[in-house]
Amino acid sequence: MRLRFWGVRGSIPTPGESTVRYGGNTPCTEIRLGNDELIILDAGTGIRKLGDQLMARGQSVHATVLITHPHWDHIQGFPFFKPAFVSGNTLVIVGTERPEKKLSEIVSDQMNRIYFPVQLNELKATLTFRPVKDEQNLDVYGAKVRTMYVNHPGFTVAYRIEFNGKTLVYISDNEPYDRGAAASLENFEDLVKDKFEETNGDPNQRVFEFCRDADLLIHDATYTPEEYVDRVGWGHSHYLFALRVAAEAGVRKLCLFHHDPNHSDNDVDKIVKACRNEIKRMGYSFECFAAEENLELEL
Ligand SMILES: [Zn+2]
Repeated sequence: MRLRFWGVRGSIPTPGESTVRYGGNTPCTEIRLGNDELIILDAGTGIRKLGDQLMARGQSVHATVLITHPHWDHIQGFPFFKPAFVSGNTLVIVGTERPEKKLSEIVSDQMNRIYFPVQLNELKATLTFRPVKDEQNLDVYGAKVRTMYVNHPGFTVAYRIEFNGKTLVYISDNEPYDRGAAASLENFEDLVKDKFEETNGDPNQRVFEFCRDADLLIHDATYTPEEYVDRVGWGHSHYLFALRVAAEAGVRKLCLFHHDPNHSDNDVDKIVKACRNEIKRMGYSFECFAAEENLELEL
């Protein structure tokens, strides 16, 4: 399995000189399986450049797009993904939906004519929508893909992808679940809260189990622990929690993801340094690094 990051920033794009190294595009990661089959994780603004690169190859595009949830930063690049405009291309879009709104509407609403000049039904590629819920297993080009609801407002899923003996877990947006705080957080779904509440002991155990023995865990590390204190209920993690997930799950590598839009490259450097110090102090054995636009990895 090969990976390339096209967008690693959370919440909103952050162009500018202070974010040029880690990058300012919102979440999008390209995954290539054995025969170059293409899986795309999230359709944030990073997907635009991925689309341009795919067009430049001059071949038809067949891809499965796994969307964690439809907050803007995870779907707003889709209307600018050029392969969607070309007939003969096929895109399968996987994501969560709600009782009152289908996945196809969730994606197309952002292209409503009030907000956007081209509507979804004008796209020439063949689009298929595949809604998912908690704990579903999918076969994507021979890869075993599993979903799990995580602790983030709305229905948000994590994806675990197993292929050819390697495992990648992608948890772009997730907050540590705290039984005390949960009752007062009204923008979180009751159905998702129930999943955490049903877990014996530490409710985050279900996340640890989902990540068990992964070769690479890409996890939300939006905040520092100090920043998190004022942002409980916003649906994101501080880096110490990301380290805890990695340690409890026994993963081999942890990739810090969804960088806060207020964090400069130097701030992200400091977070990586703090994480590595903590890993040493705690005697953990996994590697830790920050996601960076254009970084390529092989599992
Ligand atoms: Zn996000």
